[in-house]
Amino acid sequence: KEELNMIQGALELRTKTVEDVMTPIGNCFMIHSDTVLDFNTMSEIMESGYTRIPVYEDERSNIMDVLFVKDLAFVDPDDCTTLKTITKFYNHPVHFVFHDTKLDSMLEEFKKGKSHLAIVQKVNNEGEGDPFYEVCGLVTLEDVIEEIIKSEILDE
Ligand code: ADP
Repeated sequence: KEELNMIQGALELRTKTVEDVMTPIGNCFMIHSDTVLDFNTMSEIMESGYTRIPVYEDERSNIMDVLFVKDLAFVDPDDCTTLKTITKFYNHPVHFVFHDTKLDSMLEEFKKGKSHLAIVQKVNNEGEGDPFYEVCGLVTLEDVIEEIIKSEILDE
């Protein structure tokens, strides 16, 4: 039964898209780039339990960087460093994908190993103005693997 599920999951990688499995932007834990890394914010970040956290400027859909929680290893909360200083220093590339990217190509991208998290965007052409890219969520390798094995991976 489990094997059958997995075969089905693997076959569906060609038809399902990242939008089907992503964490929608409203549920993403993100931080503003001007945030001061004092004791409170650092505790909040640790308590979120996430390894990678998108960093935005102005509004939540404007993602500029990704903070890895391990980047905080040398940060002293008493120094009141701003998040921007840290993200500028580590400068991890932000990986964007389109919402209609199929899961098989997403898996190939993740296998290349640059980053196991990607920011999902789509073109917004509603309204009067010119169409623009809009962030709609994030997707990680774990989301794709869960789709193959058809069950939840519980976090540690
Ligand atoms: P982590 O290592 O942070 O636990 P995983 O890659 O294991 O992240 O992903 C676990 C789940 O958490 C996935 O469903 C993924 O979409 C989601 N996720 C990862 N980072 C975040 C974040 N910053 N905010 C909200 N959800 C996230």
